[in-house]
Amino acid sequence: MSSRKLLMIPGPIEFHPEILKAISEPSPSHVAPSFIESFGNALDMMKKVWLCPSGQSFIIAGTGTLAMDMAGANLIESGDNALVISTGYFGERYAELLKRYGANVDVLNTPIGDVVSTEIIENTLKKKQYKLLTFTHVDTSTAVLNNPIPIGELGKKYNVLTILDGVCSVAGEEIQQEKWGIDVVLTASQKAIGVPPGLALLVVSQKAMEVWRNRNTPVGNYYADWSNWLPIMQAYTERKPSYFATPPVNLVLGLEKSLSLILEEGIEQRIKRHKDIAQAFRLAMQNLGLQFIPKSEAVSANTLSAPYYPEEINGGELLSEISNQGVIVAGGLLASLKTKYFRVGHMGIVNEKDITTTINAIDSALKLCNQ
Ligand code: PMP
Repeated sequence: MSSRKLLMIPGPIEFHPEILKAISEPSPSHVAPSFIESFGNALDMMKKVWLCPSGQSFIIAGTGTLAMDMAGANLIESGDNALVISTGYFGERYAELLKRYGANVDVLNTPIGDVVSTEIIENTLKKKQYKLLTFTHVDTSTAVLNNPIPIGELGKKYNVLTILDGVCSVAGEEIQQEKWGIDVVLTASQKAIGVPPGLALLVVSQKAMEVWRNRNTPVGNYYADWSNWLPIMQAYTERKPSYFATPPVNLVLGLEKSLSLILEEGIEQRIKRHKDIAQAFRLAMQNLGLQFIPKSEAVSANTLSAPYYPEEINGGELLSEISNQGVIVAGGLLASLKTKYFRVGHMGIVNEKDITTTINAIDSALKLCNQ
């Protein structure tokens, strides 16, 4: 089907043919020995991709928002203090979500395109004892990249659990969960992990699991409650059958394939590939005269870019011309700037050819719009 356009949005992305093949196999029973093995393999490999050998991995039917919800529901009890370090749309979502579980939420904001400084975070942690803090590794609305290393260190220093929203970063940006002391690293399948939408994925530190075990009140969300899911994850890890809610068997087969392809490529090489492609894309856009939301290279994500439309150009027209050139990119997401910028995803299987095709499509579309 040559009419298919190249999908360069920040998720869902283009998927590897071997992953599409894996998920299109006839569905196995969730208690079939071969499926139990695949589920167990996927749980084991997550810890290698996340670089968190002592963590507890969870694979649940749902999306990234469920992964956020699961961390919030299990770690917050009514009256707990939580700090949200927000760099855009998904930080705001986390603040709303934590309030549903009765948290007293403080939000640290920053001018659009920048990150909250380590100094401001530390000063905030000095003033109040928080139970947990959340931050978005790559906010998909702004393409701003946070550095998790100082945040992990502050979490340890002030005894605050740290939750990294890695929906737009895991397997595309460098993450060393255990070394950096991050308690929860969560993501979804449809971005750099490279599996069609439908999986919520988390790796949780033993420290956070202990905090959950010591809760005084039951988890206020039945589906997300780790009491229901931990025995299932443990059973699959021990290669034993179990059931709480039907797992998305085909997607789990896709995840097993995807994680093995990621490990085969090598995490370091994969991160380098994302960096090289992102830098080449940004350079090409700069040469076309475009500017970006992130304020500097140091806070620019490698999984997506968020360029402003040139002033004289109508954004909607530009996006449809890019589509006419065979490439689909995404519009703006941040409410205050929605019509002023667009977003290009470059993660997962993305290669030099795809990025060149995308650059050429944007170049031609800009010329057509300028006529
Ligand atoms: N966090 C971030 C950083 C995201 O990019 C997204 C999805 N774009 C989400 C959370 C929510 O994920 P989902 O749409 O899979 O629920």
